[in-house]
Amino acid sequence: MSLLVQKFGGTSVADVDRIKKVARRIKRTVKQGHQVVAVVSARAGVTNNLISRAAAITKSPDPREMDVLMSTGEQETIALLSMTLQSIGVPAVSLTGPRFGIRTDNEHTRARIREMGGSDARRYLRQGKVVVVAGFQGLSEFGEITTFGRGGSDLSAIAVAGALKAHRCQIFTDVEGVYTADPRIVPNAHKLSELSYEEMLELASSGSKVMQTRAVGFAQKHEVAFEVRSSFNSKPGTIVKKSASSLEAVSVSGVAIDKNQVRISVQELPDRPGAAAAVFKAMAEIGVVVDLIVQNVGRAGKANLTFSVPSEDAYRAEKAMREAVGRTGATVGRSNKIAKVSVVGVGMRSHSGVASCFFDALAEAGINMLMISTSEIKISVAVNHEDGDEATRVAHAAFGLEKKTRSRKKATARASRSKSKG
Ligand code: ASP
Ligand code: MG
Repeated sequence: MSLLVQKFGGTSVADVDRIKKVARRIKRTVKQGHQVVAVVSARAGVTNNLISRAAAITKSPDPREMDVLMSTGEQETIALLSMTLQSIGVPAVSLTGPRFGIRTDNEHTRARIREMGGSDARRYLRQGKVVVVAGFQGLSEFGEITTFGRGGSDLSAIAVAGALKAHRCQIFTDVEGVYTADPRIVPNAHKLSELSYEEMLELASSGSKVMQTRAVGFAQKHEVAFEVRSSFNSKPGTIVKKSASSLEAVSVSGVAIDKNQVRISVQELPDRPGAAAAVFKAMAEIGVVVDLIVQNVGRAGKANLTFSVPSEDAYRAEKAMREAVGRTGATVGRSNKIAKVSVVGVGMRSHSGVASCFFDALAEAGINMLMISTSEIKISVAVNHEDGDEATRVAHAAFGLEKKTRSRKKATARASRSKSKG
């Protein structure tokens, strides 16, 4: 008998009919001889509705009260799912995050997990019950309810699987797995059967929003392997785990696009040590994540610095930047939305020619690059917003990621084996 953690997202439990479907799936799993812990989200739209109700009252709601409010969504689902399971003859018990023993820090609306309990859940499992755990929530050091940031039920599922040493953690969602690119943009994209944590992390941070990034980071740190699969069919999904040898890997596993970036530029910044540090300190202080960064070669003691931020943070970022550099005489500007297109693959560590293949493809398509950034397993470029989709398609084709494996081999062969990305 093995223990499975099954996580069902908002669309999978959107209404009573879907909750019944989820219950029947859990029942089948139990019949196959497994112990099951189900971790669930709020029904689709519920969290958004709660947030907009708060927004109708005040622009800056008290984060503690936001957590009291938002955590109700998941609490509704665990009760409904447990009742449904009981009604079809499956003994079940619901546990809120605090009740499970998920302990967090005190950062309301974006709490981090500090410690995982689970002894009650284990006892219920031994009694033959399905344990239904509320995602997205935990208990602070002060005994207050906290939440983990949007999409945080993924994190709950991974953490619960880790704490209970589950045999497998299955993330049931509205997509069939992780694709080589967004199939709405690239029709011949295909589902990856396996992916490493680091690739999944880079794809997630590059706009492939299959799962909460923090959840994947947590899974990597605690080595919790998981599977992303569809809640609407029983096809196998994508298994995410520690990477196999990157020598064997294809150079690029996937192409991600993030159309939600804005460029902030700081012109005429004094070209001296500490100037850029002050810029990014200002961003860190307001909790804005800076993505691509470009600094040009200084001239006449002045330099220009450009970086991208998520568009929802752009206004705050611009304002904080004006305050931070205003006195130096630098000017601050903000662009319209841009798109960031990234190619990702652990194989980049051992294949060269990836950058040139990517940039050639963009050049052939007449797409101008605004910014570039690279990491060990990722190359990202910023392009005009309207070029984003086409850039994704040409990159996908250039690396031979379309459904047939034959052309993937070709692309791999094209990139010669060496340590550089060239
Ligand atoms: N209900 C929360 C949200 O919508 C958490 C989750 O669904 O994962 O963000
Ligand atoms: Mg989700």
